[in-house]
Amino acid sequence: MQFIGTRGGKTVSGAEAAVRGIAEDGGLFVPCSFPAVSAEELGAMLGMDYPERAAFILGKFYEEYDKEGLLAALESAFARFEGEDPAPLVRTDEGLYLLELFRGPTCSFKDLVLPAVAYLFREGKKLCGIREDLLVLSAGEGDTCKAVLDTFCGAEGIKAIAFYPEDGVSKMQKLQICTQEGENLNAVGVRGNPDECRTHAAKIFLPTREKLLSKGYLLTTADSVNFAHIAAQIAYVFSAYLDLVGSDQLSEGERADFAVPAGNFSNLLAVYYAKKMGLPVGKILFACNKNNAASELWKTGVFETRRTAFSTMSPSLDNLLPANLERLLFELTERDVEKTKERMGQFSSGRIRLSSVELSRLKTHFSGGCTSEDDTVDCVYEFFTEYGYPLDTQGGVVMHVLEEYRKNLRDEFQDVPPAVVLLTASPYKFPQDVLYALTGNDVKDSYKGVKRINLLTAMKVPAPIKDVRYKPVLFKTVISPDKIAGEIEKFIG
Ligand SMILES: *Cc1c(COP(=O)(O)O)cnc(C)c1O
Repeated sequence: MQFIGTRGGKTVSGAEAAVRGIAEDGGLFVPCSFPAVSAEELGAMLGMDYPERAAFILGKFYEEYDKEGLLAALESAFARFEGEDPAPLVRTDEGLYLLELFRGPTCSFKDLVLPAVAYLFREGKKLCGIREDLLVLSAGEGDTCKAVLDTFCGAEGIKAIAFYPEDGVSKMQKLQICTQEGENLNAVGVRGNPDECRTHAAKIFLPTREKLLSKGYLLTTADSVNFAHIAAQIAYVFSAYLDLVGSDQLSEGERADFAVPAGNFSNLLAVYYAKKMGLPVGKILFACNKNNAASELWKTGVFETRRTAFSTMSPSLDNLLPANLERLLFELTERDVEKTKERMGQFSSGRIRLSSVELSRLKTHFSGGCTSEDDTVDCVYEFFTEYGYPLDTQGGVVMHVLEEYRKNLRDEFQDVPPAVVLLTASPYKFPQDVLYALTGNDVKDSYKGVKRINLLTAMKVPAPIKDVRYKPVLFKTVISPDKIAGEIEKFIG
């Protein structure tokens, strides 16, 4: 499969797009067309386990890679997960399914993504004849930072540096990041919110890449601006659907809605892309917290680019400038490079305005909603009371938006289709806020939160969460956003 950039430019191979991460003009790579998955192929995938399904979907985009090698890499990575199935689907009620994406070594959905990206990097370098070592940059989102460090720990010919937002991670997330061991790794806190961290890193990315080449490094990223990240997410969307069919919850071809969090839009796009590939997806519900620029776009067709950022209890959704907005605009303009440029160009004016056709395309496939902090707390509490299941705070945002959506359907006497809710992190990553939601108790210590949640809910504490408690904190540097490029150069030496 060939790839193009959202800002035009020449087409490149899948390997090239994966290894470089971002196009030379700053655009985001997307496949030239979406490979179809036929009904026969879907049928064949029913009999596959998760690694096989993931390798099959990734193989559709990255045909030049060795399929056996990819499958073996995924199998060995997923062997580190807790439980048999790396992405289990849990039925809580008639037509309501939770996709648990947090069984991996760092307890967020990024664990399902990064092993694939790592393989595409490693083998892609060979396929493209790239001789430089890779420097993998992650910036702006706590769970991604941790998963990148974990995945590339000790990787040959690769270094990784993660910039996490000081004001955009829970204490537990910060502890996970800063206790990471590995000679080839570095983690640095950046003052400010996730958007500030990410947009500064994005700004210096291409000039820094240029500089580092002379030092023998190719700067790249495994964050969701890299299409490889999203390709791996498409795999779990397919897998969840197949699990529904395989357990007779759905008949073949019947549609399911998907409810996803909206931070940097990677899950939102993964479901949309899966739909374009032929998966019977109904509505894609995307959920924002108080930082609701995205749900306002859905409501009004206007995306305000200068809004006050709030620090919330669902920090992975504290984005006002989603990294993958450009990919969504690319699709809404029917892949029109000039129109995408025009829309992105409106960014600096403070307002991106969709045409009425673009807005109606958005509404055809998506439904957006948002929550207040109180809504999130109430939802986590009520969901636990009803089903005995502790959602994480991002999950609380998504579930609230789904419930509102379903309530409206019922009020209008419409059918309520089955829905899959993506749970992107373990509640134990946000123990203080989850405990507060469940009991009203504020605890200062993350581990007191962990213990009480465990006593209350009987959900098993993941081993990786237990493990970091007594690990030494290795990374203590905190910088302002304008020092990101300098830190990268210092790290390379
Ligand atoms: C990364 C992350 C998100 C953001 O996901 P997008 O689909 O890119 O918006 C949401 N929740 C958690 C827990 C995350 O780690």
